[in-house]
Amino acid sequence: MSKEFKKHQGFPVQRILSLRGMTVDFTEIEEGGKSIIIHLNQDKRFKKSFCSECGKRVPRKRRARRKIRDLPMLQKAVYLDCELFIVKCPHCGQRRERLDFVDKCSRMTTRFESFIFKLVAMTTVKDTADKYDLSWDTVKNVDKKYLTEKFSEIDYGNLEYVSIDEITNKKGRDYLTIVMNLDTRKVIWVGEGRKEENIDEFFDALSKKQKETIKRAVRIK
Ligand SMILES: [Zn+2]
Repeated sequence: MSKEFKKHQGFPVQRILSLRGMTVDFTEIEEGGKSIIIHLNQDKRFKKSFCSECGKRVPRKRRARRKIRDLPMLQKAVYLDCELFIVKCPHCGQRRERLDFVDKCSRMTTRFESFIFKLVAMTTVKDTADKYDLSWDTVKNVDKKYLTEKFSEIDYGNLEYVSIDEITNKKGRDYLTIVMNLDTRKVIWVGEGRKEENIDEFFDALSKKQKETIKRAVRIK
């Protein structure tokens, strides 16, 4: 074996998970063998907690546990049973502490959400939901959240003339609305659904100034 590889006794779950502030207590496989539950405790070296709402350092109140879905491993669903602290925030009240690897209201790790988002882009919301035994709404919400984040960062440039078009996927079930900057020929926005239904979302995402620069929006039939 080459020098770069380290030998491990057993399966090095903790290193593979690589979750800051957490140590693996034990793992179990659910009956039927379809999912793995990894029980995690707080790493005692991390003595500070932060509010999941405002991000400020806050005093700890009591311990709690939360089940969070993570990336699948060897075709099995993976759940993290995480120990965390309920905190008392002077600004927000009683909250869960912030965990680096999960968004405040989510029950999935951010890496699993990001994986779902990429998969939806290649397949459909329904296919992704079926494959990973998630509800349609859960997948749809993740997709929407990431699309919003992705496109809120975009500099639309000098927008004067835009085209609004729609395409369907292979099966003809799902529509995508595509907005293009006609001067640069670049796609500047993609939304799920037919153009009549969701084009307002595109205009809502623009600043007042950006809206004013648009001279013409052409709807392609
Ligand atoms: Zn707070």
